[in-house]
Amino acid sequence: MSFCVKCGKDTENTINGLCAECFIDGRKLTSLPHHVDVKVCANCGDVGYGERWVTKDLEDAIEEAAVDSLSIIREAKPVSMEVSSSEQEKYTHVVVIDSILDVGGCIAEDTSSTIVRLKNTVCKRCSRQLGNYYEAILQIRAGSKNVSQRVMREAQNRAEETVDSQSVSNRQLFITKTEEVQGGIDIYLSSISLGKAIAKDLSDAYCAETKEAAKLVGQTEDGQGMFRVTYLVRLPDFHAGDVVQFEGRYFKLARVSGNGAKVIDLMNFRERSIKRPDMLSVKVHERSEDLREATVVSRGKGEIQILSPSDYSAVDISVPDDLAAGDSVKVTDIDGALYYVP
Ligand SMILES: [Zn+2]
Ligand SMILES: [Zn+2]
Repeated sequence: MSFCVKCGKDTENTINGLCAECFIDGRKLTSLPHHVDVKVCANCGDVGYGERWVTKDLEDAIEEAAVDSLSIIREAKPVSMEVSSSEQEKYTHVVVIDSILDVGGCIAEDTSSTIVRLKNTVCKRCSRQLGNYYEAILQIRAGSKNVSQRVMREAQNRAEETVDSQSVSNRQLFITKTEEVQGGIDIYLSSISLGKAIAKDLSDAYCAETKEAAKLVGQTEDGQGMFRVTYLVRLPDFHAGDVVQFEGRYFKLARVSGNGAKVIDLMNFRERSIKRPDMLSVKVHERSEDLREATVVSRGKGEIQILSPSDYSAVDISVPDDLAAGDSVKVTDIDGALYYVP
């Protein structure tokens, strides 16, 4: 058993010869620097930690920056902490940290405060973006005049969604700019791998033809060749949902993929596949958005009666046996006769 040199109390453990109470008495247990700076991107609002930029709530970032700068004396162990911040003026926040600490088995409280200053700057991604940085150009083109604006937009949205999803985990991936050009759209991209990924995705989704061409544009700092790659994606005439002609028969194009397509024969409603190389001979008979609706008059097994959309005459057409036809069905005209389009 030892005793406190200040108050004389007998105590199990002394700190520098003092009991815990005498040691704590009048002593600052925590401290904060006068101010802490936090880098904020003026363009996107992300918060910078050295070279790293993170998307986070600004208030959280301010409080975390203060907590990270808090010093606690060696003899004290933090038990809990309460942090509060208030905006003093624009870009300047006062953060107060109330700490509960354990000092040699004795619970003590201490309060420290600091000023967190927001430093406006531009993150690496934004500076590249603002500087029109790009490594790849994705050229989405219509394979012919028959490709609709709707399909072009759909492909553009698909490309943008790929960028959105990839940029969540990699901040260096972004669209620099998008330009409408004769016959299509040019999307400038920050990375070659991103261009490649989008070209592959569009090629699979639309059975589209793709080409790539690299151009040497300079040298990196370590003397490597710096390339810019152009990915050309030529959208074919056909699109899922269209009625197409292939090997002398008519089909609904049900699905398109990187391997080819699944189609439904309009004469017998059987499904079959068309291999990708054979897709070149697929001709569009009627686009999905041009298919007409016909009113259903009566329903039977494997057959229904409809009103012709052109002259309202009653016509019997074949349908799949298990079809539960609604009030109207989609039809296409082949050589003057109407056919049901599933
Ligand atoms: Zn004492
Ligand atoms: Zn930014």
